[in-house]
Amino acid sequence: MKRSVRGCYQSEGYVFAKNAGEIGKQHGLERVARLASNENPDPPSDKALELGFAALSNANRYPDERQVSLNDALMAAHGNYHFVTGVGMDGVIETTIRTLVEPGELIVVSTPTFSFYRLSAIAQGAGVAEVPRGSGFSVEPAPFIEACEEAKLAFLCTPNNPTGNGTPPEVIREILEHIDCVLFLDNAYVEFSELDYLPLLRDYDNLIIGRTFSKAYSLAGLRVGYAFVPEWFRPYYVRAATPHTLNAVSAAAAVGALSDVKHVKTARERVIKWRKELSGRLEYPVLPSDANFVMVDVSPLTSDEAVEGLARMGVLVRSCRSFRGLKDHYVRVSIGADWENTMCIDAFSRLNP
Ligand SMILES: *Cc1c(COP(=O)(O)O)cnc(C)c1O
Repeated sequence: MKRSVRGCYQSEGYVFAKNAGEIGKQHGLERVARLASNENPDPPSDKALELGFAALSNANRYPDERQVSLNDALMAAHGNYHFVTGVGMDGVIETTIRTLVEPGELIVVSTPTFSFYRLSAIAQGAGVAEVPRGSGFSVEPAPFIEACEEAKLAFLCTPNNPTGNGTPPEVIREILEHIDCVLFLDNAYVEFSELDYLPLLRDYDNLIIGRTFSKAYSLAGLRVGYAFVPEWFRPYYVRAATPHTLNAVSAAAAVGALSDVKHVKTARERVIKWRKELSGRLEYPVLPSDANFVMVDVSPLTSDEAVEGLARMGVLVRSCRSFRGLKDHYVRVSIGADWENTMCIDAFSRLNP
């Protein structure tokens, strides 16, 4: 019966981080530094917990299909924009593709980058045009713009996963000036940067900016994502979305998280401090980063050799082997809690090339 499964699921899928518990057991370690998934090491804000618990007691009811509370909280936090929400930004990405792209049409991605744009597009019958990044993994506008001519939807991740670098807003503006398709700007890590793309929303009605509560807001386990969208897009997105995907507890917790500005500030300050420390103290080249992780060049080791070596010392990082368009000698290291970062620096110093 297995052969009845669709071709796109026969060969590849999303690559998840290794399980910390299993690695700990496997190597007989007391504690493991979890630096493979770019989460916030702090638990959720008390405000998120409070509103989440309160919503749980009403869980016999379906969520508000318009997510009014979350929408209002997003407006209060960011200003008078139009929003859509979903089950993680992954859910928003999937629904956006479903809204805009017919089977056989193309999306554009800028490689190496986050894999889910491609996986989700292929699963929905679309094709993928991959535009390689230039030196220092910067986005080169000309080839990107050219690829967009044939496409329905383009994705740009900034700051980019896994490379860490951001694309200046002027470059995004230049791209928007020259394309007709919709551009989805993935801002999963923007809270850790100085980058601000929101002014572009006033000038272009083909721009969507995706955000998540999984990184800076400490709610990865609750799966809440959202996007700034043009006004015309919203009703169609709602039609394309699975009914009631974002659950009421997660939405309420997100409202609480948004109100706790200090929580995000703490995370941001820790990240900025440790990004600098890691670049100074690892004995391998660390690429410049605007995110809560850094990409490290571990050559002459391969990605997997470095990941295995670090895991034996209790430090979990992400192998970049599976990122298309990237040579096989990089790992991605999240900024964690202080003890995790210290343990990471120590493990790197004992990693044998
Ligand atoms: C983590 C991440 C997301 C999505 O996260 P969700 O948990 O689904 O909200 C999207 N884009 C990038 C680049 C990410 O790293």
